[in-house]
Amino acid sequence: MAKISDYVGTMYEQLLKSFMAHSSDGIVVVDLEGKVLDVNAAFETMHGWTKEEVLGTVLPMTPPHLLEEAGRLHELVLSGKSVNGYETFKMKKDGTMFHASVTISPVLDAEGGVIALVGVERDITGQKMAEKKLMDSEERYRQLVEFSPEPIMAITDYCIYYSNPAALHFIGGQHIDELQGKCVLDFIHPEHAAYLTFLLERSIGGKLPSDIVPIKLLRLDRQTIEAELKIVPIVTNGNTSVQLLFRDISKRKTAEQSLQETEMLYECLVENAMAGVYMYQDEKLVYVNPYLSKMFGYSRDEMMQTRLEAFIYAEDLATFKEIAVQTLEERISAFPFSIRGMKKDRSIVYLEGLVTLTKYKGKPSLLGTFQDVTYKNEVEEALRESALRYQRLIKFLPEPIVVSDAGMLIYANKSAMKLFRTTVESDLVGKSIYHFVHPEHQQEAMKIERDVMKTDNPSQFKEIRIICFDGEIIEAEISSIRIHHYMGKTVTLTVLRDITDRKQAEELMIRSEKLSIVGQLAAGLAHEIRNPLTSLKGFTQLLKSKSKEDSFYYDTMLTELERINLIVGDFMTLAKPQMSQFGYGSVSGMLEHVISVLNHQAILMNVSLISKVSTALPDIYCDENQLKQVFINLIKNAIEAMPRGGNVVIAADQINAETICIKIKDQGDGIPDAIVHKLGEPFLTTKTNGTGLGLMISYRIVEHHRGSLKICSKDKQGTTVKLLLPVPEGRPGREPAPDSADWAI
Ligand code: ADP
Ligand code: MG
Repeated sequence: MAKISDYVGTMYEQLLKSFMAHSSDGIVVVDLEGKVLDVNAAFETMHGWTKEEVLGTVLPMTPPHLLEEAGRLHELVLSGKSVNGYETFKMKKDGTMFHASVTISPVLDAEGGVIALVGVERDITGQKMAEKKLMDSEERYRQLVEFSPEPIMAITDYCIYYSNPAALHFIGGQHIDELQGKCVLDFIHPEHAAYLTFLLERSIGGKLPSDIVPIKLLRLDRQTIEAELKIVPIVTNGNTSVQLLFRDISKRKTAEQSLQETEMLYECLVENAMAGVYMYQDEKLVYVNPYLSKMFGYSRDEMMQTRLEAFIYAEDLATFKEIAVQTLEERISAFPFSIRGMKKDRSIVYLEGLVTLTKYKGKPSLLGTFQDVTYKNEVEEALRESALRYQRLIKFLPEPIVVSDAGMLIYANKSAMKLFRTTVESDLVGKSIYHFVHPEHQQEAMKIERDVMKTDNPSQFKEIRIICFDGEIIEAEISSIRIHHYMGKTVTLTVLRDITDRKQAEELMIRSEKLSIVGQLAAGLAHEIRNPLTSLKGFTQLLKSKSKEDSFYYDTMLTELERINLIVGDFMTLAKPQMSQFGYGSVSGMLEHVISVLNHQAILMNVSLISKVSTALPDIYCDENQLKQVFINLIKNAIEAMPRGGNVVIAADQINAETICIKIKDQGDGIPDAIVHKLGEPFLTTKTNGTGLGLMISYRIVEHHRGSLKICSKDKQGTTVKLLLPVPEGRPGREPAPDSADWAI
């Protein structure tokens, strides 16, 4: 069997050597065990080894994990098979690896026996990377096409070989088979088939993409759709295929159509609007609607050719221009304003306008509206006039009158203000009318207003109590009536009447009537009783002095007789007012006297009488005995009202030039509500031993003196009796007391 050494020095060796030296592939010769016999320069460069370093080593260029594979390849070669362009990895000196294409050939001896193996390695790393890049880019492209929302097809010879999902969807298909392999003309509207053929031929012939052209397609359901198409020829390996790029324009078409419709709608709206509409650009009207031209009395063309100055009232021109500038500079938007316009016939029209910034033919312009409010202004003016007329009419009427709108006061005349005790209109106007009605009467007042609003008839006069601005409660009568067209509204007009005086007069009358009846009675009775009473009293005293034993009974008889005498005495006062003796007397003197007389009784009842009587009071014209009787009655009542003791303050002062006021204030239980209105009636008493005549007599006497008596009492809070007496003329009083302010009760 030949050996490799036999081979050395032969022509083949020369040939091989030269081949190895010049080959750009790495060549390595190994013996059958894999030991390196020779390597070429390219191998050295590829692997980084020198020849000396590898000679004799076993397969140094094979990575350890591929040794088995290498062994297999060797077996193949030894068995006579060829290993050609086998792709594997080879190792460098520094341990790194590279992609290699390997061809292994046997070295044969003359007899055809294998004596060695020659491995040729080619570094294919670069080629592999390029391949990968290509694959990547293909993938990217495929994805791009696959997911493109635009329909894309690829055809060769009119046959569809690819279609992206968008195209499938576009044509109305479900599965790719519905398109693939079909003739593209199947999906073109017959009208456009020839056209497409022409375009395709031209593009392919010229190898140039076509323009974007409109084309009608036929969907699988045979419906026509509008599209745009671009044809892109692709030449690969001498074969020309074509890409068809479609664009769905049906949506755009509908959008265009709906835009057109909207435009028409707007145009129709503006043209028929019941308001003036205009477009203003570069100080000119570029559009006016029919309503506006009619409003101003011009034709539309006339209006658009006339300068703005002609339509806007001279005084308001600056205002309008200012608004226009501000709107154009976007400082304000949609800002309502009032302005006066001028018609063609030079008459004035009152306008309310709105203006906004818009674009017209690419330039900013103003879009505005005008509403003719001349009529509205006139009506408002007339309404205001009529309301003012009303007010002037009722302003100085002596009757208090208020006007209210749904319960809110909107006007009050002078007398009403006086009645409510205010001088400021705003104290009343703007407030609820019920604010001034006593809670007891509010329901009633509301009912009056409700009823009155139903008819044109005035309501009956009704008595209600009113709370004045200063808190005082007065008696009043009211009657209301519905008034139309007061500031454009239907309102309630109410007439009020202060009936406090009348009420008082009425009360007085009732009382004096009662008094006169009692008086007459008393006149008859008193006389009849006085005489037998005197005898009874005399004989009782006589009997008492004779019999010492039964003195208790006599004493009781005598007290009771004294009581009868007292009552009869009171009656006499009533019955004989004519007995009075008038003269000038001092109030303070009378009061001091009465206080000293009653002090004894007061002390017994644990009550202190505190006198705050001014010493500077003028004398008054009076019947001293009668007045003293009044003071006694009032102070006694005060003492009797305080069973647990307390203070009674008796004060007297002059409150103005004409009046002296005497106040008796106790800390008693007050007068029960039930009888407060009946005070002064005869025999009205809450006391076991009372006669119920004291107050009646007092009223009577005070009346005689042209004075007045007012009793103010709150349950459990004491009672204050205020007695006013006139200072006679010619005896003007002194300065009012500094604390006279709290004399009001
Ligand atoms: P009389 O004192 O005999 O009862 P008057 O006419 O003096 O009769 O008084 C009538 C009633 O008025 C009294 O019974 C009492 O109920 C009430 N009255 C009068 N003054 C006062 C007072 N100062 N405090 C409380 N109640 C009073
Ligand atoms: Mg009394």
